[in-house]
Formats: sequence, structure tokens, C-alpha cells
Amino acid sequence: MLRFAPSPTGDMHIGNLRVAIFNYIVAKQKGEKFLVRIEDTDKERNIEGKDKEILVLLELFGLKPDSVVYQSANIHIHQQLAKRLLDTKKAFLCFCDEEEIKKEREKAKEEKRPYRYSGKCANLSLKEVEEKLEAKVPFVIRIKKPKSDIEFSDEIKGDFKFSPFEVDSFVILRSNGVPTYNFACAIDDMLYDISLVIRGEDHLSNTPKQIHIRNSLGYDKEIKYAHLPIILNEKGKKLSKRENHASVKWLLEEGFMPEAIINYLILLGNSFEREVFTLDEAIEFFDLKKISKAPAKFDIEKLKFLNKEHMKRIKNISKYLGYDKRYEELLRIFRDESVTLKEIKEKFDAVFKRAEDDEFKKEREILKKEILENELEEEYDEFKKRVMKNTSLKGKRFFMPLRELLINQKHGAEIKDLYKTMKPYLKEVIKGR
Ligand code: GLU
Repeated sequence: MLRFAPSPTGDMHIGNLRVAIFNYIVAKQKGEKFLVRIEDTDKERNIEGKDKEILVLLELFGLKPDSVVYQSANIHIHQQLAKRLLDTKKAFLCFCDEEEIKKEREKAKEEKRPYRYSGKCANLSLKEVEEKLEAKVPFVIRIKKPKSDIEFSDEIKGDFKFSPFEVDSFVILRSNGVPTYNFACAIDDMLYDISLVIRGEDHLSNTPKQIHIRNSLGYDKEIKYAHLPIILNEKGKKLSKRENHASVKWLLEEGFMPEAIINYLILLGNSFEREVFTLDEAIEFFDLKKISKAPAKFDIEKLKFLNKEHMKRIKNISKYLGYDKRYEELLRIFRDESVTLKEIKEKFDAVFKRAEDDEFKKEREILKKEILENELEEEYDEFKKRVMKNTSLKGKRFFMPLRELLINQKHGAEIKDLYKTMKPYLKEVIKGR
């Protein structure tokens, strides 16, 4: 089984979505299930409704999970297993004062060395432990650091080796009984029989800790790992979650199609023979092992190109955008000159608004009268001849106000095409201008 494990602590960004896509694709390729696990144990950081939002987005992108689980439902198992580690002496109770630990952390930071637990409570006698428990001193549970190096081979990044010092005796259960991220994650990956974990490279340093947890529990089935290189912004810096185009919601609101976003995120950091494809097509040729190890740079121009390509593939654009089918042809004209769905909609909606530009107001009135007072039977060329003759308007003073009458824009699509397409409802549109 593969899994996507989002925390409901913020908006979904493209890095998360990319992780979800790759897990989904590999699950399909291997014929395994795709699990979505909402990592909601950190109650203070959870944001109400974000879990549902993530699920709705996954559905929208066609990344249908075989099952959805909430990590908090397993807390009792995490607690039981922490107890088992205590019983088998693989973990210990730590009564160190939080403030004291905080100071040690700060000191380590000042001295520019990584913080490591002092080991103070690792070897308390049974008597000392009993006394502290009796005195109700709050405690956390720490796993004992490993006795030898933790090694693993990452599917993308190659071989890694972490020393016991690097892994450290870290906290697995907080004083309120809530498991830490590493503990809950390591156990759930084991409980759901995860075969391969694909996630962002910011989690690389968690991997030896998670492997150590399972080793300590005696789980000996190997879980493979693939850590995806980070995504950089156009300036070459790490794409921050706060940047607009990092937000999936923002991209959708801007009118990028889910198909184009998916296509783009699969392409990012890869090189394939073809650039334009669907998720189903990618399942046929995608190879996780061939992803570039180097950070991938976000390129909005490429996304725009793909968006145009995917917009071309929409068979029924009026239906897709929720407009009456008699506007199909006009919407197609707008599509040809737009980069996003939002642009098409803005152009189309403008057609039904009053013209506000004053430059050719007078000319518009003259043309309006001429068009409304006569039958619209002729082809464009005769129409043009007649209207030019009867209004004595020509050149810019004819074409610009005419286009404004048609679509409320001075520049844009060919008037000839617009006229032909809009003829059946042209008078209706012009009346409202
Ligand atoms: N909840 C973690 C995150 O959103 C998941 C990390 C993982 O995939 O193990 O970053």
C-alpha cells in the first residue's frame, strides 16, 4: 500500500499535491492500494475543515483514495506500543523539565551545534522512577537511541547512513499522552503495511528515526523510501508556502485546469519524450527512479503553456464552464486567445455588460442604431459594406466600436468570426450595450 499523509494544518500547496500524485501513480503501477492518512494528532496546529478541503481537492484532481483514515483514531495503539517499548527497555520515562530542555536547545543553537538529549533520565533506577511518579512529576517517553548506524537506500537520492548520535534518544510520547509525529507516522506505516513512502525531502532526517522505531518494535519488513527534491521558485529560492502560485487553491482560482496542474507537476524535474499528457497516460510511462535529484524550479510559463494545451482538449467548453450551449462557438473563440479558464470567463462575461469606455461612445451609438434597425441577414462582407455606407464610419472608428458592441473589447478576436458566431443572438447582446 502507498499513502499520502497530509497534516490538516494549512492550505494544500503544490509540493503536497506532487507527493500525492506520485504516490497515486506508483500505487496504480504496482497494483497496490492508495491510502490517504490525515495526520491530525497535533490538535493545536490543526485547522478546522482543512481535512475536508484536502479530500475535495484530491477528488477534483482525480486522485481517488482507496481509503481515508485519521491518525488520531490510532492513538491508543501508539500508546500501547510506546508502553511495549518501555517494557522491553527500548524506551524510558524522561522527567526532565521542559524549561531545562528548552535552555539546552538554545545553548546548542548559540554554539552552532545540533541539540542532543543529555541522556539524564536514560539510566534512572526503578526507585528513582517510582519516586518521581509518586510525586506526579510530568514525564515524556523517549526511545533509546540505536546501538548502531541506521542505513537505508533512497529510491531517488541513493544511500544514507545515520549514526546513533544523529538519531538521538528522541521523544515518542508527549506528557499529555499524544504521540509525536515520528512515532505515529512510523507505526501507522507499519500498521497499514506501507511498501514505499514517497514524500518531500524535508522529511529525510525523520526517516532514520522512523526506521529505528520500527526496528525497536521488532518489525522487520522493509519499507522503501523516496524523497522528492524540493521545488524552487523562479528566483531559485525554496518555494514558500505563502507564495501565491504555491497554493493549489490559488492556481485553481486563477483558472488553471486540474489536468494542466497535474501534468505540470509530473513533468517538473523529469524529462519525458512528450510534454502534454494526462494522469492516466503518465501511469504508463512514469518512472520514479528517474526523477532528477536536483531541486526543480517552478516555471509558471510552462504551466501556462500546458494549460492552453489542456484547454484545447475540452470537448464541450460551454458545458465545462456552465454556460448555455448556444455560446459554444463564441467560447471557443475566446479560448483560442486565452491562457486560463478565468480569462475565458472574464471575456465571455464582459459580452453581457454595458460598455463603459468613452472613446468611441458616439460611434457605438450610431452603429447600434444601424444594426438594431435592420435585419441581420447578410454575410459579414455585405454587412460591413452596408453598415460602413449607412454610418459613414470607417477604419479604426468603425472596427473598434463595432468590436466593442460585439464583445465589449476594443481589441481581440476577428470581427468576421465574431459576427458569424454571434449572429443568432447579436441583437440581444447589442441591445444591452
Ligand atoms: N504529515 C506529514 C506532512 O504533511 C507527512 C510526512 C510523511 O509523508 O511522512 O508533511
